[in-house]
Amino acid sequence: MYKYSTIIGLEIHVQLDTKTKLFCSCNNESFNAEPNINICPICSGQPGTLPVMNKQAINFAIKAGLAMNCEINKHTKWDRKSYFYPDLPKGYQISQFDQPIDKDGYIEIFLENENKELVSKKIRLERAHLEEDAGKSIHDRSIEYTYLDYNRCGTPLLEIVSKPDMTSSVEAELYAREIRRRMRYIEVSKCDMEKGHMRFDINVNLKVEKKDGEFAYTPIAEVKNVNSFRSLVRAIEFEIARQKEEFEKTEIVKNDGNKTTRLWNDNKGATAQMRTKEEAADYRYFPDPDVMPVVIDENWIEEIRKTLPEMPSVRFNKYLGLGLSKTISYSVVDNIVLANYLDDCLALISNKPELEKEFLNWFGRDLLSQINQSSGESEDAAIIIKIAKEDLIELVELVVNRKITRNLAKEFLVEIWDNGKSLEELKSTISTEVIDLEEVVSRVISNSQNMLEQYKAGNEKVFNVFLGLIMKETKGLVNPQEIQAKLKDILSR
Ligand code: ZN
Ligand code: MN
Repeated sequence: MYKYSTIIGLEIHVQLDTKTKLFCSCNNESFNAEPNINICPICSGQPGTLPVMNKQAINFAIKAGLAMNCEINKHTKWDRKSYFYPDLPKGYQISQFDQPIDKDGYIEIFLENENKELVSKKIRLERAHLEEDAGKSIHDRSIEYTYLDYNRCGTPLLEIVSKPDMTSSVEAELYAREIRRRMRYIEVSKCDMEKGHMRFDINVNLKVEKKDGEFAYTPIAEVKNVNSFRSLVRAIEFEIARQKEEFEKTEIVKNDGNKTTRLWNDNKGATAQMRTKEEAADYRYFPDPDVMPVVIDENWIEEIRKTLPEMPSVRFNKYLGLGLSKTISYSVVDNIVLANYLDDCLALISNKPELEKEFLNWFGRDLLSQINQSSGESEDAAIIIKIAKEDLIELVELVVNRKITRNLAKEFLVEIWDNGKSLEELKSTISTEVIDLEEVVSRVISNSQNMLEQYKAGNEKVFNVFLGLIMKETKGLVNPQEIQAKLKDILSR
């Protein structure tokens, strides 16, 4: 009846992996720590204390901005965002209002079109700014009391705000994953979802094309409390369905210009309207007189730009160009450890082009399956590659030079990976003979004059008998296509 399209913008809070907090020297790592152990008068908001800026956090924000193609604001400042909540002991959060450190960026995502071809789409970024995190309220330890843990107070966050450029949950997930990838590539955050290093706020609404060709928009819902990629997708799908239903009930759009704030409940798989009292926000932003503005010059930016690694989208295109499949290229770029391993290996074999094809086979098939077997369920688990690059290359070289079969090479890989055997040790078990295919084929034929005559008389079945004999002689070290070609060649002489 109506045509709907979805409009999505994301705000992503990324916890920066600095040594200390944003405005004090407290330890920034409190995972599994005793509550309220990493706090001091500054981050617990005692009167009379003064914040001191963390330069590492500013460096990280510049680096992140460059990794997202942002313009870096040469003059950036701090503002107080005032609100009352027990987990915010100062009564305000130090954030950035009108002069965020990063602005006007974009990142690329890759989508499949209806012909299954990959097309890239730019998602624009409005801004990214630094701010401090609040503490944690713990409601489930007691019926009577709420407990407060201030360890997280003052932890630096980068809030990355996109333009409303996404049109589906698929695009939103691709975008969020690309942000995570980039933050990990540049090592400003571990982005462990399970530790809350990355949190999503979703702005979503629908554009409705009515019968008369007029357009209407459903009110924007801001969905908070989304902490995983799975919830991100589910929350968007839920909102699309809910907003359609709402609209069709009334066909009227109450547009008072206000966003509605909704909370995602992962157990129920639904969003719920927050109480309107909590919704009404007047943060009374004003410049924080306790912290100086930050002036960033071109040299500072250029020094940081030099430290940027090659970005995932560039590598993705590079791997596709080498002939790796979309799925493999995607899983390689997803982890910089793996991407760096591949790039290093490619550099090591750059003077041996005959190895490249077989190496890529090995990498995409055998190495990835070893990695998948040894890493657990968790998306955040670090990848451990238990074979040296030189050894993997040598294994491939042994196969290409017909010293060992692919099956034996695979057994070697497993021995190295699982049992810590050395390649040297394994190599000492293989024979040193080198197969001369021409010699073997000629010998097998001349030993069976009988069959040769049958073949010449037109019995084509004999061909396969020859093939079987030669394969036995070559012990699987030469691939069957090559044997076939050689056999045909010699028989036709
Ligand atoms: Zn502190
Ligand atoms: Mn924020």
